[in-house]
Amino acid sequence: MNSAVNVKFCKCNEEGAEYFCHTCHNHYCRKCQQEHATNLDTKHHSNTLYRNISSHLPYKKETCSKHLECTYQKFCESCNIPICDLCKGHRKHKKLELLTVYESKHKQLKEQIFKIRCDTIYQFQIILTELKDDIKHCLKEKKELMSAMIVMSRKIKNYMDKALGHSRYLKDVHSCSSQLERIKKHINKIQYYEQIQETLIRRPVKFLKFIKTLRPPSMEDTPSLALHSMLSMTQDINVKDLIKPLTKIKMIKRDKRCLKNSKLLKVILPVNVIDSYVITDVDRCHHISHVTLDRVWVNDGNSLILADTTTGVTLKRLPILRYGSCLGLHSVNRERELIYIENSSAVKKYCNDMSTKTVFKMKKRRNSDWFPVCLYCSLSTGDLLIGKMRYDTNESKVARYNKQGKQTQTIQNDKNGQALYHFPRCITENNNGDVVVSDSIDKSYGAVIVTDRDGMHRFSYTGNQSGSKLSPLGICTDAFSNILVCDWKTQLVHVIEESGKFYSTWGPLVLDKSGRKLTTIPYSLSYDVNNHLLWVGSGHGNVVSAFRYIHRHSHLTDKVEFFEEVNTSKDQQRT
Ligand SMILES: [Zn+2]
Ligand SMILES: [Zn+2]
Ligand SMILES: [Zn+2]
Ligand SMILES: [Zn+2]
Repeated sequence: MNSAVNVKFCKCNEEGAEYFCHTCHNHYCRKCQQEHATNLDTKHHSNTLYRNISSHLPYKKETCSKHLECTYQKFCESCNIPICDLCKGHRKHKKLELLTVYESKHKQLKEQIFKIRCDTIYQFQIILTELKDDIKHCLKEKKELMSAMIVMSRKIKNYMDKALGHSRYLKDVHSCSSQLERIKKHINKIQYYEQIQETLIRRPVKFLKFIKTLRPPSMEDTPSLALHSMLSMTQDINVKDLIKPLTKIKMIKRDKRCLKNSKLLKVILPVNVIDSYVITDVDRCHHISHVTLDRVWVNDGNSLILADTTTGVTLKRLPILRYGSCLGLHSVNRERELIYIENSSAVKKYCNDMSTKTVFKMKKRRNSDWFPVCLYCSLSTGDLLIGKMRYDTNESKVARYNKQGKQTQTIQNDKNGQALYHFPRCITENNNGDVVVSDSIDKSYGAVIVTDRDGMHRFSYTGNQSGSKLSPLGICTDAFSNILVCDWKTQLVHVIEESGKFYSTWGPLVLDKSGRKLTTIPYSLSYDVNNHLLWVGSGHGNVVSAFRYIHRHSHLTDKVEFFEEVNTSKDQQRT
């Protein structure tokens, strides 16, 4: 193929296209591709470099470097090298088909690059902007510090000067000199006596008269010489004053640079419908757990199904018993496996290998046994939160289990011993670790009950106006730690801030593809942390809609030239 003839232009019309998107069938230059790959609406699209489009061509056979007459066929897993039929020493090793290994490794790498393209590069762009600000800030801070340090060093010099010229020190110099004088005098006196004693030898009377008038020196007359006090910085200088300026210099160790959602994302209202899907095989969406853009678990009163959103086709059906008016019967964990309450005595897991495992088997139901009514898998800790009730006392609680299945916490009462929950129907967790429960007091009203990570009651939300009653259904939290809850009464979604403050009500939120309102109410919610979409399931009817109100920043000044190397090698290939 002669590329000179077939030059495709990017839709920006400025540059020749280097990428082709298999999802939206557009051509992109490198600059526009970066925008296309990081935009939340298109980041899941499948793009390839132009030279990779012809990847359906058969694989090239490559000659063994040791045996030029033979091509590589197998991959020795033990030695981690490709081998040909003539390569020796691998008889007892585990060998795989070369192409199988290639395809699986190639797929892995592609997925990694895809993730980097979509998320990491975007984060780098934000970090770059942040770093630039930091540099500016640091320079300013450095300048301020410099002048502060000059002032400080002047102060210290003054202290030192003052200390050296201090009167006490001068006094000490004086006392040393006076001691010197005293010693000199004493020695003179002794010398004088010596002389007199010599002169008056053999003249006893004169001698006796003399010593009577002038007492001879004795040992006791030796002047006592005190040590002069030492010059000390601690005695007369106010040490605190001296240290104070020095302690102002501090090296503050800071944590690893981490990007908060508030920096990566922004809210743009109104909420915008992205797509709407009809899920065949259910007659309502009591609870939804989204898995990927085209996979969602939905249940009605009879069954729990995995639906392909693009086709509406049911990919898997699991038997569940929806008892009472339980809502949050399932949740998807970090590994994208489904954890679900099958009935009042079993919590199960539908694994990625399509097997079903029992997570918990409850005791055979007696009225005094706790039975599960809702659950949630924490994406941050991997913990499982299970809402439970018992028939005999009508008590409710939330139990936390770690990944090993060990119960680590029970949340049941507030600090006054009052029961927190009446009937936990749906449960979720906020980014700060808060446990958020949609709780029903009776059929027509209830509250959103929020406790912190340690189980301390933080707040209960019962509606946006005093006296109004909330009838909470499905619940979720978003990237900004807002709590979103469906209200059966107003048929709207209430949005509450992390602190418990009312933010807004949104609705109608059951729409068809073209944004037309459908005659049903929002019932179940699921937040997609990868694509930042809000998924809403309908109460009557079988519609699941995806909404966007969280966006990435689109006009970043610094584009990261991440694929520089790849493209250089591409240029080399061309020549
Ligand atoms: Zn372009
Ligand atoms: Zn595309
Ligand atoms: Zn060989
Ligand atoms: Zn081997």
